[in-house]
Amino acid sequence: MNKDRASLELSKEEMKTYGTHVVDAIVEHYHTQNNKLPVAKGSREEMDSLFLEEAPENGSKPLDVLNFVLKKVMTNSTDMSHPKSYSFVPGPSNYISVMADALATGFNIFSGGWVASPAAAELEIITIQWLLKIFGFPQKKGGGIFTSGGSMANLTALTTARRIKCGEDFSKAVIYLSDQAHSSNIKAIRVLGFKKEQIRIIPTDIEFKFAINKLKNCIAKDKLEGLHPFCLIATSGTTNTGTIDPISELATICKKEDIWFHIDGAYGAAAILSPKGKQLLKGIEKADSLTVDPHKWFFQPYEMGCLLIRNHKHLSHTFTEKPEYLRDIEGNTSEINFYDHGIQLTRRFRALKFYMSLKTYGLKEFRNAITYNIDLAEEVETLLRASKYWQVVFPATLAIINFRYNPIAKKHSKKELDAINQYISEKVVSSRKALLVTTVLHGKTVLRMCLINPRTTLEDVKETLALCEEFASERV
Ligand SMILES: *Cc1c(COP(=O)(O)O)cnc(C)c1O
Repeated sequence: MNKDRASLELSKEEMKTYGTHVVDAIVEHYHTQNNKLPVAKGSREEMDSLFLEEAPENGSKPLDVLNFVLKKVMTNSTDMSHPKSYSFVPGPSNYISVMADALATGFNIFSGGWVASPAAAELEIITIQWLLKIFGFPQKKGGGIFTSGGSMANLTALTTARRIKCGEDFSKAVIYLSDQAHSSNIKAIRVLGFKKEQIRIIPTDIEFKFAINKLKNCIAKDKLEGLHPFCLIATSGTTNTGTIDPISELATICKKEDIWFHIDGAYGAAAILSPKGKQLLKGIEKADSLTVDPHKWFFQPYEMGCLLIRNHKHLSHTFTEKPEYLRDIEGNTSEINFYDHGIQLTRRFRALKFYMSLKTYGLKEFRNAITYNIDLAEEVETLLRASKYWQVVFPATLAIINFRYNPIAKKHSKKELDAINQYISEKVVSSRKALLVTTVLHGKTVLRMCLINPRTTLEDVKETLALCEEFASERV
């Protein structure tokens, strides 16, 4: 064994060579990804046959391991940044942020407390300020924190809501969300230890919006029974359809009833940077807390979520603990310790990628990209409506479009249509040429395209639709 390696070190030359290979691989990936197949497939057995081994007692040559990983790991992972990855929520990412992540990791900056890294804490404060301004939150009183993603941002929000509205005793507390709310909210509610009887899932209307009257009735009934309505979760951009709940009406109800108003904008909030989105998201500034998910529509690589909060003190009231081993890094109060504002103590330096990509591209590029995404989905809608094969099931909303194969020439039963569309999705995915899966709307199996990748073109979509039509013709 090489003596140098005992301290987990490489020589300077080895490091340079290794780093160059890594960067080359990433750049090559960016330049060739459009011509590759986005979808990876592999069973547990196949993956085991590639990777299963005991932890190796002896090492290997660095470049051998790297090349093995590039060949076997990267090629067996679905490419969520590919222009034909339409499903779930794509992760378009951007190169500047990728390099920023490499820097943050390379310097291994501890982003928990001010004393450990004043600059990292400051950049988190500054970028959170940028976001507060974008969303119309109070700049002075407001605050926030970067998290691993939307799920953790929602958990952080609900923990805060409970602390502020219920204190220690939450036995009578009731929380409201719609049947279109993201599953991470239910997960968070469970993690917090609420019982099933404390959760109200309110039905949505025909447009998948919170049914206001049903909500009002439910709150009134709960109050009559001596329960304590304490939190409501609205969604600004549902994952299924991009639908925005009636934010202003919900805000009024929450204000009147003294209910914490959380908006889950993990999918759609970033649309505020486009003119249409700004119209649609009016009232978002009325939330007590807002989840944003920069690793979705702010084009950041994983993992980066964000919670914004109207009153930043609410975060420190909820999360501050003062153990003796942290007393030397407390610092003064304007010097924020983010470990006191959320769940994590040791945190990676997430703000850096947001900061560097915004400084490099400018907000304008983000605005243009998001506007392009929204317009593209509307063009796709027009295309589908003009076709004799396709039916638009839900109009393009915040860059999401739901549609299904339903040819004019032949009438099919609901069951047949469900089966055909399921079949189309399965065939497309197994061709590996596009990631296009189904969802269910009003009981119908439909295809769902989420078009937040600025590299996706109308041509890409046309090719994918042609592929779908080819598969459909095998079935009808
Ligand atoms: C994606 C999503 C989440 C979860 O965010 P993660 O970053 O995947 O943890 C929560 N809410 C909505 C509306 C989402 O679209």
